[in-house]
Amino acid sequence: MTITQPVSIYLHIPFCLKRCGYCDFTTFAGKDVFIPAYVEALCQEIKAVTGSINQKLAVHTIFFGGGTPSMLSLGQFGSILNILKVCFDLNWDVEISLEANPGTINLEYLKGLRELGFNRLSLGAQSTNEYELHLLGRIHTRQDIFSAFKAARIAGFSNLNVDLIYGLPGQKMNKWKKSLDEVVKLNPEHFSLYALSIEKGTPFGVLVKRGLMELPDPDRAADMYEWASEELDKTGYQQYEISNWAKNRYECIHNLQYWRNQSYLGFGAGAHGFANGMRISNVARINDYISRNGKTSDLVNDRPIGKFPMSPATVSKTSLSNHKSMQETLMLGLRLTGEGVSSRAFYERFGEDLMMVFGKDIVELEKMNLVEWSGDSLRLTKRGRLLGNQVFIRFVD
Ligand code: SF4
Repeated sequence: MTITQPVSIYLHIPFCLKRCGYCDFTTFAGKDVFIPAYVEALCQEIKAVTGSINQKLAVHTIFFGGGTPSMLSLGQFGSILNILKVCFDLNWDVEISLEANPGTINLEYLKGLRELGFNRLSLGAQSTNEYELHLLGRIHTRQDIFSAFKAARIAGFSNLNVDLIYGLPGQKMNKWKKSLDEVVKLNPEHFSLYALSIEKGTPFGVLVKRGLMELPDPDRAADMYEWASEELDKTGYQQYEISNWAKNRYECIHNLQYWRNQSYLGFGAGAHGFANGMRISNVARINDYISRNGKTSDLVNDRPIGKFPMSPATVSKTSLSNHKSMQETLMLGLRLTGEGVSSRAFYERFGEDLMMVFGKDIVELEKMNLVEWSGDSLRLTKRGRLLGNQVFIRFVD
């Protein structure tokens, strides 16, 4: 097997100072003591995976996500980046992103990140309203957001994303407008806007189940989404994915890799990866992750590590059939609101005609005004962006 296209690397940092009420990500509070061993385990996992392929892979994006990656020290990032430089062939213009909680960073830290090579920062702001931040369980204040943003600019970050959440229980349109307007004035290069979703097992899920919190109103959330789309369009942002907007072509190259269904390696507890025709996922618990990667032999629990991109931490793998890959390419690619899925690129990749494989569903979705053709690309209509799940469900078994 030879991989000819540059791959992307995701590193999961599953530590947070405190769990937010809505969060269902693989992340843990109060486990900071494990951070040094975790960083060591990450380095071991990188070595194990790259040692299982007879090729030095080219890399064009590195993304530290979480969790709260900004809980790692500069020295810890330095160690991880050094291993990555040894084990991979990093492109000269590699995009290196960090998700940062505005309550965990300052100017000195940000300058250090720039010196290490980070060139994209994603600030998890979520809202600029003090009451909403409290409701969400965020550890930062609205002032922390503005201070972090300013410090990031001074430190030299010219590629900044801000995450915001809308559709909070009881949230009025004017509050949402104010949050977005205040961040637009900061002029970030990129926005990610997410509708709050209440997940089972989270504190919000429990409150809703007990009748102590109202479910977000989906119609109001749809109005907020539509207003935000128009507002961002007016202020010079191009929507390129259902939840993402960029100015001056500052799309997130790392996330484009996912939506274009191209290879990425996931390192860390609970991380997922896709390469060599396989989707894999790692053990979620921090202790398990550390002990699995601490083994020095190539046997884990007396089992061989497995073939690339598996690692000692891999707990599940799915080999994709050609049909499944085609479905996933369509489902992910349709999230790209401008680019969509090119029928020519589809044919070049799979040797099959998009309409021959999925024509029946595509025609039905066109009749429902959920998808449309733009040149040779199939993409969501404006209505389809609001009702994306009705489209994606067609391409899942
Ligand atoms: S900071 Fe992010 S990852 Fe951590 S608990 Fe809150 S939402 Fe989840």
